[in-house]
Amino acid sequence: DDELKQAIRTIADYPKPGIMFRDITTLLGNARAFRRAVDQLVQPYAGAKIDQVAGIEARGFILGGAVAHQLSSGFVPIRKKGKLPHQTVRMAYALEYGTDEMEIHVDAIKPGERVVLVDDLIATGGTAEGAVKLLRQIGADVVAACFIIDLPELGGADKLRAMGVDVRTLVT
Ligand code: 5GP
Repeated sequence: DDELKQAIRTIADYPKPGIMFRDITTLLGNARAFRRAVDQLVQPYAGAKIDQVAGIEARGFILGGAVAHQLSSGFVPIRKKGKLPHQTVRMAYALEYGTDEMEIHVDAIKPGERVVLVDDLIATGGTAEGAVKLLRQIGADVVAACFIIDLPELGGADKLRAMGVDVRTLVT
């Protein structure tokens, strides 16, 4: 979608030299683009029964909250380790160099609940893969994962599809 693409700013050499960072704060701050993005994210699930939207810290919270409201579903945060107050399940996931860990509350999802995962961008898919594993570990039926931006050369969307997740992205 060209309108969405134009609302995303690219910052060269952030956070490190050689990286082209796709900055969605400009999209979020553009009322028309923000609504357009959320409308397009929810569109495939209109009328479907989605129990929970899971968002990945931190940009997945902003989008996931809006998507959950629109679908009349609950919202579940997947957070960096040490941030959630109740009992959690923890999952290591791959970063460019090394690994980190993310967590979800052990009782955030009832077994069999239909969940849509939301984040701003999928690159290698390491983050989303960890999130899908966490959700499945606590009994979620992960119906789909959706992202504003796909970086297809990094293979993340294909990796998720190979896990049996329906992947939807708005801008390539
Ligand atoms: P992956 O695990 O797929 O390699 O990286 C995706 C995760 O890193 C997402 O949580 C996403 O928010 C973040 N990320 C990586 N690169 C970018 C980028 O260029 N722009 C934004 N907004 N997020 C990024």
